[in-house]
Amino acid sequence: MSDLSPVERLAKLRALEEWLAWQLDQTRRKIQAVEQQVTDQIGYISEQAIREGHPLGCTIHAADCTMITRPVTSVTADKARWVLTKDAKFFRACEFCDPRKTLGITDDT
Ligand SMILES: [Zn+2]
Repeated sequence: MSDLSPVERLAKLRALEEWLAWQLDQTRRKIQAVEQQVTDQIGYISEQAIREGHPLGCTIHAADCTMITRPVTSVTADKARWVLTKDAKFFRACEFCDPRKTLGITDDT
């Protein structure tokens, strides 16, 4: 590279920069796809309400949450997402593991 003129070195460095940016973008896309796979595999847990009719309702947790104390049922990511967005009167997200993040639920959802 030292035999190159500064203009030639700059052109090579710009090409390298462009290729590295493309590589970074590809890697970020792969990370996003694998993160989604991990999220789908983790699964979610619906924890029974404190007592029947309790206003807080059932709590949705990530399957590996350590704050679960009451009887549970496994739910898929789709089901967890659905109950947290469409049935919010009877389901709430655990504040500790916050499954809303891994489910991609925002306040706008
Ligand atoms: Zn939790």
